[in-house]
Amino acid sequence: EQYVYRFGGGTADAGRDKNLLGGKGANLAEMASIGLPVPPGFTISTAMCTRYYEEGEAFPDSLRTEVAEGIAHIEGITGKAFGDAGNPLLVSVRSGARVSMPGMMDTVLNLGLNDETVEGLATAAGDDRFAWDSYRRFIQMYADVVLELDHDAFEEALEIAKEDRGFTLDTELSADDLRGLVAEYKALVEKEWGKPFPQDVHDQLWGAVGAVFGSWQSERAKVYRRLNDIPASWGTAVNVQAMVFGNMGDTSATGVAFTRDPAKGDRAYYGEFLINAQGEDVVAGIRTPQYLTRAAREEAGAKPLSMEEAMPEVYGQLAKVFDTLENHYRDMQDIEFTVEQAKLWMLQTRSGKRTAKAALKIAVEMAEEGLITRDEAVCRVDAAALDQLLHPTLDPKATRDVIAKGLPASPGAASGKAVFDADTAEKRAAAGEAVILVRTETSPEDIHGMHAAKGILTARGGMTSHAAVVARGMGRPCVSGAGGLSISARDKVMRVGGREVREGDLLTLDGATGEVMAGEVATVQPELSGDFGTLMEWADAARRMKVRANAETPADCRTAREFGAEGVGLCRTEHMFFDAARITAVRQMILASDEAGRRVALDRLLPEQRADFAAIFEVMAGLPVTVRLLDPPLHEFLPHEEAEFAEVATAAGVEVEVLKRRAAELHEFNPMLGHRGCRLGVTYPEIYEMQARAIFEAAIDVAEKSGAAPIPEVMIPLVATRREVDLMKAVVDRAAKAVFAERGREVEYLVGTMIELPRAALKAGEIAESAQFFSFGTNDLTQTTLGVSRDDAARFLGAYVEQGVYSKDPFVSLDIEGVGELVEIAAERGRATRPDIKLGICGEHGGDPASIAFCERIGLDYVSASPYRVPIARLAAAQAAL
Ligand code: PEP
Ligand code: MG
Repeated sequence: EQYVYRFGGGTADAGRDKNLLGGKGANLAEMASIGLPVPPGFTISTAMCTRYYEEGEAFPDSLRTEVAEGIAHIEGITGKAFGDAGNPLLVSVRSGARVSMPGMMDTVLNLGLNDETVEGLATAAGDDRFAWDSYRRFIQMYADVVLELDHDAFEEALEIAKEDRGFTLDTELSADDLRGLVAEYKALVEKEWGKPFPQDVHDQLWGAVGAVFGSWQSERAKVYRRLNDIPASWGTAVNVQAMVFGNMGDTSATGVAFTRDPAKGDRAYYGEFLINAQGEDVVAGIRTPQYLTRAAREEAGAKPLSMEEAMPEVYGQLAKVFDTLENHYRDMQDIEFTVEQAKLWMLQTRSGKRTAKAALKIAVEMAEEGLITRDEAVCRVDAAALDQLLHPTLDPKATRDVIAKGLPASPGAASGKAVFDADTAEKRAAAGEAVILVRTETSPEDIHGMHAAKGILTARGGMTSHAAVVARGMGRPCVSGAGGLSISARDKVMRVGGREVREGDLLTLDGATGEVMAGEVATVQPELSGDFGTLMEWADAARRMKVRANAETPADCRTAREFGAEGVGLCRTEHMFFDAARITAVRQMILASDEAGRRVALDRLLPEQRADFAAIFEVMAGLPVTVRLLDPPLHEFLPHEEAEFAEVATAAGVEVEVLKRRAAELHEFNPMLGHRGCRLGVTYPEIYEMQARAIFEAAIDVAEKSGAAPIPEVMIPLVATRREVDLMKAVVDRAAKAVFAERGREVEYLVGTMIELPRAALKAGEIAESAQFFSFGTNDLTQTTLGVSRDDAARFLGAYVEQGVYSKDPFVSLDIEGVGELVEIAAERGRATRPDIKLGICGEHGGDPASIAFCERIGLDYVSASPYRVPIARLAAAQAAL
């Protein structure tokens, strides 16, 4: 079996296959094969990573032979030799999983240097200082990422070396200074590691390869995989590649770039570079990078020349490469490059992470440019990420107490309490607090805290710093590189311009402007036109399923319609009963000792219910509105606290003792499985009768007033048997008949049922004889199928997901294998009885893209989601159909 794949010199052994070569390796191979300048190298495949773990973390002998051939390939192209003191080949070693994954061992540069080859490098480059600086960097990086020694000790030695000589910049250190530092570093390694720094270049290489594979199982990598649903079985590849040097003087440079603006999506090259530097200097935020283009520099009012101005010729080549890459990959690319003595080298390309706003703009513009089709554009935008655009931004008119300004690293607005470390962020967020994570800079160790935070603020780092890249990927607003801040994580305090922010103090970030404000700032609703509107139109043209909203107030209905809802899929009527103005009548109804008494109270509720429905029908004129009859157990409407009894009893006009007795009678051990749903209707049909009457009277009122009749779909909850539907349907039909006769006018309506119990799903064939539609209530169906209480699940579900019992929280994303099978069975059996039966879903899953894809697969007619998730559902439904 082949594990090593070579690239460079205009060809590659394999290309495109990210599963085999990892993302980085596949793209290097592909760039090499389309003629772009890529330093030669080879990739050890992900299959080797899997085998490495299967065989107890050991390499097979065949790999040694293959790696030797890979090195020979690089030597052949570069004319240098690995470990040769005369003309040494140096390589970089990088990890590369199928998807880019912070938290893993990233990069070792300058591998192949030792006490002898460093002299050879000095001669070959004609530059002593460069050679010793490279060796110094190599030992430091190798000690950090491969040997996992304390990184601070090395930084400290470097700082002391500079201080002793009165220098501030690394570049001021002479060759001799660096030679001395190398000796110190080697001593440090021996002290901390217990063995001398490896002088054999092959030992160095195998050490680094082992470290890459080892990092696949690091805690940080595991956390990231868990957060991003990446299976452990994928493994990582290792890329070994000839070094090119961005630190060989002023005609050398290194940089990172995007072919379009990853924050706003504008069609403009975007990036940062540093003259006379190596790659990690840009990302680490140690020196402040310079702009790529003149336009960006001028817009920022910055002085240091842009690459376009400082190196016009190489910049021209780079711009051509950007276009070649975009045309080839047909997507926005994120690129790393190095210029070695005026020669351009491409080190990496990948599809660039972008904000939802940029994703939208880039997808729409690429379709308009003809680079991709409209359907492809629809599939390019992560439906779940639309959430970022549908939420409020800071009100431009609100007063802002701006205390600092940094880079607008990831857009969106966030307010929350300042916290200074990732663990506290996670803890406080878990307790329901909104927090802003404040760090000098972030590293992969902070990922869980960044995920938990509403926003991220750093004092250091550019637009491509760890904080910025990760925040954009997660959709968290981020302000990075706010230079004026002095942050002490130990003392939990941030100081800026004479002011102090302590843990728990409120902060607001504007990720679009880079402003940091004290306190909380008012927000405004997002704009839904422009690119958003265009993409939604294309999505609507592509989707088959309808999208409705779960809404029970006219305001929610209006929001839902603005977001494109095509009806109401679930109007929960219990919220109307909880209304403060009518709860007394509801309680009188519950406290009544007989049907006559209940009817008196219900008569008082009828006009209120009618008005509720009329208001909703007006907003939803001409569209279907599914009204669910009362679902919760009646005791929910009675007081539970001793303190409330007297007051409630007086208001309802009964003795306290009567109220208490009734509350005790209604008490249930397990209300979720108790006297709720249609069980209320079966025992107290007059309640459903009143609701049905209110629905039909309201429908006729609205039809008479506006001419556009709503289409009520009356829905019976928590049904298990056909008989329940028969009984309740008779109540509803009777009410309809009575109202139509009284009013001398009819409206179209349907009576259907929720499918939220396994028995109902199994007996759907029979139930469909009576029910005209099914709406899958997957919240209850999940609860009853899994036997997991939706109210108590939080205590253990996290551990369940962590240990892979369920791959995602089954109340968020449908358990397709289990609950999904019941849904599928019910859909099939329902259709077998009634071929035109209308099928929809109204559980929380109706707004979850993966669940929506399942609904498309089994042919449901619509999904229903909360108003803010309606656009997500529209896009996800389109993607599922394509
Ligand atoms: C459901 O059970 O999925 C549902 C939509 O009803 P509720 O959440 O109100 O129980
Ligand atoms: Mg339910």
